[in-house]
Amino acid sequence: MQKAIRPPFRSAVRGALRLRCPFCQQGRVLARWPNKIFPECPRCGLSFFREQGYYIGGMIITYGLTLAVVIPVFLVSLLLPDLKAVSHDGRFALWVLFAVPLSFLLMPYAYSLWLHLDFWLESWTPPTRP
Ligand SMILES: [Zn+2]
Repeated sequence: MQKAIRPPFRSAVRGALRLRCPFCQQGRVLARWPNKIFPECPRCGLSFFREQGYYIGGMIITYGLTLAVVIPVFLVSLLLPDLKAVSHDGRFALWVLFAVPLSFLLMPYAYSLWLHLDFWLESWTPPTRP
């Protein structure tokens, strides 16, 4: 199989954020929100599933991105005097109401980022069509 040329890192990140195929940059990666990925690129046929359990990396990136937002927001919230008046359970409920939708919001980008990072590290090509 012919090896694809590694894209520049910045364009890989840009393609990930646009949720486009890492090979052709045209085909959509996301079939349905939040994390249904097409089996292959609708444009060029590049496989988006290289092996069983491929998107566990995407889940880990979702977790990392969510924490990267939640932890700074939590630290800033400690400075808010009004939040101290809310009960412990109330604060916990507020954090769940913040973190769960946030993770669903970040999920498509995390999965796409995982695909693009893998493609950037070791690119592969779509099957040749007759
Ligand atoms: Zn493609």
